[in-house]
Amino acid sequence: MTSPREVTRMRIRRVLKHWMLLQNLAGGTGLSPFRLKVPKGGLCMRCFACGVGYGPESKTCPICGRDLETDPDRYFRAGMDAISAGDIEEGVSLLEDCSRLDPNHLSARFNLGVAYSLGGRHDLAVRELFAVAQKDPEYPGLLTALGQVAFGMYTHHIEQAEARKEQMLGFLLAAIRLDPEDVDALVTLGNVYIELGLPADALRYLERAAVIVPESPVVYFAMARALEMLGRRRQAALMAKKYLALAPPNDRFKSEVENFMHNLLQGTRATADG
Ligand SMILES: [Zn+2]
Repeated sequence: MTSPREVTRMRIRRVLKHWMLLQNLAGGTGLSPFRLKVPKGGLCMRCFACGVGYGPESKTCPICGRDLETDPDRYFRAGMDAISAGDIEEGVSLLEDCSRLDPNHLSARFNLGVAYSLGGRHDLAVRELFAVAQKDPEYPGLLTALGQVAFGMYTHHIEQAEARKEQMLGFLLAAIRLDPEDVDALVTLGNVYIELGLPADALRYLERAAVIVPESPVVYFAMARALEMLGRRRQAALMAKKYLALAPPNDRFKSEVENFMHNLLQGTRATADG
């Protein structure tokens, strides 16, 4: 018989495993969830009386002569105080020291994960939270914290995608300003706008490309896709047909375009639109 506690643990492990899988799919951390690693970098031993930190080789404070603090809890408390005071960076540094002194200090590692996440260091946050999960899958708030990190990563990637989108459009539009007959830029821009769900914009650039290189099949398939998105199915089918007429016999997109056209014509017959 499995105890209820064991069932809970299994359930949490399953959630974590699923989460890791998603992470990997998203090109995430690549970290194993079941490896307990301590933050990289040198331990900073501190004299809390003087508020100064030294490298791990130091034993006593050169200012007051006291022994440097070796109690992980002291670093933990100071780290949490720093975080509540809004000094995330100092808090992180102290919690890292605590974790180096005692890698099994789960409260430190959990809060370090949360603090990393607050600072936008998502991969490190995941590392700490999984270290906690390995030791105690039922650690209070663990799944919520992981959810928050995932949310942070998600928004981060959306922001990045937005920035890249702006950059990509910027380059292509600049290329066209420089050379209005740059067919590659025109067609790429058309495809970009199709991907962005803006078929009318796509069409504007593709039509310009078609005027410059009327014999190029690739322009017509892109136009067909844009027209289909605009609900102009009959015209879309016409463009697909044009593609097939111009494409070489061994064209590798031929069957794809044929299917596309077939579906379009079936749809037009069924709804009699266009
Ligand atoms: Zn001192």
